[in-house]
Amino acid sequence: MTIHEAHQLLKTKQLSSVELTKACLERISQVEPKVHALITITDELALKQARKADELIVTGDNNPLTGIPVLIKDIICTKGIRTTCASKMLENFVPPYDATVIEKLNECGAVIVGKSNMDEFAMGSSTENSAFFPTYNPWDLSCVPGGSSGGSAAAVAAGETIYALGSDTGGSIRQPAGFCGITGLKLTYGRVSRYGLVAFASSLDQIGPLTKDVTDCALVLNAIAGYDSRDSTSAPYPTPDYTQCLTTDLEGLRLGVPKEYFVEGMQAEAAQAIKAAINKLEELGARVEWEVSLPHTPYALAVYYIIAPSEASANLARYDGVKYGFSYQADSMWEAMEKTRQYGFGDEVKRRIMLGTYALSAGYYDAYYLKAQKVRTLIRQEFDKAFEKFDALVTPTSPTVPFKIGEKIDDPLQMYLSDVCTLPINIAGLPAISIPAGFANGLPIGMQIIGKPFSEETILKIAHAFQQATEWHKRKPKI
Ligand code: GLN
Repeated sequence: MTIHEAHQLLKTKQLSSVELTKACLERISQVEPKVHALITITDELALKQARKADELIVTGDNNPLTGIPVLIKDIICTKGIRTTCASKMLENFVPPYDATVIEKLNECGAVIVGKSNMDEFAMGSSTENSAFFPTYNPWDLSCVPGGSSGGSAAAVAAGETIYALGSDTGGSIRQPAGFCGITGLKLTYGRVSRYGLVAFASSLDQIGPLTKDVTDCALVLNAIAGYDSRDSTSAPYPTPDYTQCLTTDLEGLRLGVPKEYFVEGMQAEAAQAIKAAINKLEELGARVEWEVSLPHTPYALAVYYIIAPSEASANLARYDGVKYGFSYQADSMWEAMEKTRQYGFGDEVKRRIMLGTYALSAGYYDAYYLKAQKVRTLIRQEFDKAFEKFDALVTPTSPTVPFKIGEKIDDPLQMYLSDVCTLPINIAGLPAISIPAGFANGLPIGMQIIGKPFSEETILKIAHAFQQATEWHKRKPKI
């Protein structure tokens, strides 16, 4: 069920929030032994919130999110609920406060069913870097669900929750949404408050929704978007009602298809499906220019893997065993700090810290970090220029369908390559959505629609028109 379908049933009293929540919890206990999407199940809290929501609905509350179950990526702080970042470092960390997005969902009467699995500190593309357990793709349990918001995406696809929140630093909402056959939106940098989002790479991180369709994305956006004085990077712009842009007429919209995103080695079936989907957009009235070129695109991967680890190395310095989180007890302060970090962090996190401290160190700073920042500007300018001509750009979300568990875990470079199509968007701070656009060998393929800064309405409109004309987003895994 989607949010808007559930809302209708709740509003017309054909269903209560308690019933809906119980159905989700039931589904969780049914499929979790196979999918492993949740780190924490908050069943008691969920039922309490559901009872409260039912009372609100009786008194005429008409918020579309009231009484609807949601799953939260375990990197978003929830007051009184363990927030682990899928790391041993924060295994027992219970935040004393709610992230702004959680406060906002609570104000809407949301029902939180749990916290979802992810790659440790959101570093990864497969959810295999969780310190606790990997998550499995509900379409094929031998495959990864993508990452780092793999738990959120798998749970939505498997029907364990109606929708979920994730975070996207380089593709972590869109790539798992693509791999799990659902809709995932990464917002313009600054559109949603990051207060209470545990920091990975601060100039790239954004929170966003993972849902079953575009209408649901718009509904969640209405609840969470907007300025927040507690986040200095949040943008002081007004937010529209995002459901208003959901028309089906694409007449006159100009779309560009950058050829660099059909990377070498891309799976033929995936490329074919995306091209067919773009043809559909053309049928719906959009004017499509194939063969657009964004020549700096191939540098995005290198830029990202300098900037993101650099920022991560600084952000993760706070885990020293003193302030909070895991703390190794030793006689000397230095030993305590070293061992805390040795045992608290997993391999991928340590790799990023080493890459980042190296890139930022005296003597290398100019050659790596500064150079990467300059290329970042070029990438951004290239997008700006493209958007003088186009309303949106359309690309694959990933170069492949979901890969097998274990296939790339020992080859970090191959793993990093699964985000080639999504990383440039974070580097430029743009909004982009991934929607289901086809299948190959029974596995979902995602199409990415990229917009100019703060043009979420345009990409939602295009994605919505596509979903009104196709059925891909309605397919469900048989689990
Ligand atoms: N896969 C990318 C990384 O490992 C992006 C992760 C993310 O968006 N959080 O850094």
